Amino acid sequence: MGKLSNPRNTIEVIAEHNFDFRKRFGQNFLVDESVILRALEAAEVGGNDVVFEIGPGIGTLTQYLCEAAYQVAAIEIDRKLIPILKDTLKKYENVRIINEDVLKTDLLDLAREFEAGNPGAHLFVPKHPLKIVANLPYYITTPILMSLFRNKVPAQSVTVMVQKEVADRMTAQPGTKDYGALSVAVQYYSSPRLVEIVPPESFLPRPKVTSAVITMHLYEEMPVRPKDEDLFMAVVRAAFEQRRKTLVNAIGSNPAISCGKDNVRQALEQMGKSPSVRGETLSVEEFAQLSDLLKI
Ligand code: SAM
Repeated sequence: MGKLSNPRNTIEVIAEHNFDFRKRFGQNFLVDESVILRALEAAEVGGNDVVFEIGPGIGTLTQYLCEAAYQVAAIEIDRKLIPILKDTLKKYENVRIINEDVLKTDLLDLAREFEAGNPGAHLFVPKHPLKIVANLPYYITTPILMSLFRNKVPAQSVTVMVQKEVADRMTAQPGTKDYGALSVAVQYYSSPRLVEIVPPESFLPRPKVTSAVITMHLYEEMPVRPKDEDLFMAVVRAAFEQRRKTLVNAIGSNPAISCGKDNVRQALEQMGKSPSVRGETLSVEEFAQLSDLLKI
């Protein structure tokens, strides 16, 4: 059988294994080779790379990753997909199939095991660059991205298929309607680039939404360095929890920060900002500046 990116092969495998799609796991499998090739090109997957794939499904993208990379670790939550993956990937010796919830998987440990990482991350000296490539389950896109970032998984890049609206939020600039906590977090840790818009017809079954591939190069040297990253993140979250509130009200009355409105007012004054300013106007650097001023 040829590649699973050919819809006929996907349909055949699904029928052969009597597989029922599970909506609750966000299962929409890619059946479009051109999308896969462009994602691989954007991720710059090469022969010395280790790739972690989140949610391999029946192994469509995995087949291409195995051909391009040194080693692939494919982490899939649905145990019913494991025998299928063993079948569709049987000709590849450089893949490890892991039946786990990615949100409960220690990817740092896995990176160490594969001797893979980002040379600039200084955690250990990796033999192989680590890249993350995935057609993400949309119901947990933000938790997955945030856990990759917050746990400092030492990847060079993260290339993912997400809902188009989410891609818009990830790349949004201050002052636009899509700019929010996710934009600040993504742009704090990485420089994101929209690779392409992907229509529902590229998947089986077809999702109701339009998708997009986005690639994020994670910073080796962080360009913005708040004194306290946890406080910085808390300030960003508070600022966008109720977007219509001014920063003075949103942050000053937030129990997780408990700094008081006067302190926020003073900090904004020091930054040369009006006390009526809202979160959507602040850049990543300005959020760092604000959280530094609020740190006691
Ligand atoms: N990569 C495949 C493709 O492109 O055809 C499948 C992508 S599908 C959108 C998302 C996959 O993620 C599904 O196989 C689903 O079972 C899996 N998944 C969902 N939640 C997961 C989790 N918490 N951990 C690991 N995999 C998960």
